[in-house]
Amino acid sequence: MTITGLKPDFEATLLIVKPDGIAKSLTGNILTRLSEAKLEIAAAKCLRVSRELAFEHYKHLKHKPFFDEIIDYLMGHYHPDRKKVLALVYAGANAISKVRELAGATNPEEADSCTIRGQFGRITTKGVYENVIHASSDRNEAEREIKLWFEPDEIIFDLFPTVTEKVTTQKKVWASVASKAN
Ligand code: UDP
Ligand code: MG
Repeated sequence: MTITGLKPDFEATLLIVKPDGIAKSLTGNILTRLSEAKLEIAAAKCLRVSRELAFEHYKHLKHKPFFDEIIDYLMGHYHPDRKKVLALVYAGANAISKVRELAGATNPEEADSCTIRGQFGRITTKGVYENVIHASSDRNEAEREIKLWFEPDEIIFDLFPTVTEKVTTQKKVWASVASKAN
């Protein structure tokens, strides 16, 4: 992670409230727990996860026996009435380890019961660890994941070097704003 002009311990990390966290109305509890880390929220958005995004996010786990299930899980297939996630970037001193510590172990049954995963996670009858949040594991993963989930303009400051490119694409705009402009 190359964040220039900042202290060496400055880090940014990707946090995702997964579909079970949303479905169980845990977002408030989770963000309250995370506020203990005294980090800054540098970006946040609610989104539906495409198969491509889920696949890219977990591509390093594609040979694991649970790969198909975690793709379905992140896409919200197990929580069809709440098929979305909340993605955030937390930034500050030692952000990655601070958030991982509050998150707890991957397996919610092994996670310390005072951690977010220990408090709110479960193992489904299919064996999937529904552990309510994702948190980047190290600096390389954090940079890869933040760049995968967020465009530079969606983050309140430039965490990584950017370039400006001229792009001509179509995008959806508010109809009332568009008609005023015409
Ligand atoms: N996972 C699972 N079974 C396992 C290991 C992982 O269901 O035996 C799920 C779990 O939801 C986890 C995700 O796959 O959060 C990604 O796994 P990883 O090893 O990256 O754990 P994490 O970094 O999320 O703690
Ligand atoms: Mg991981």
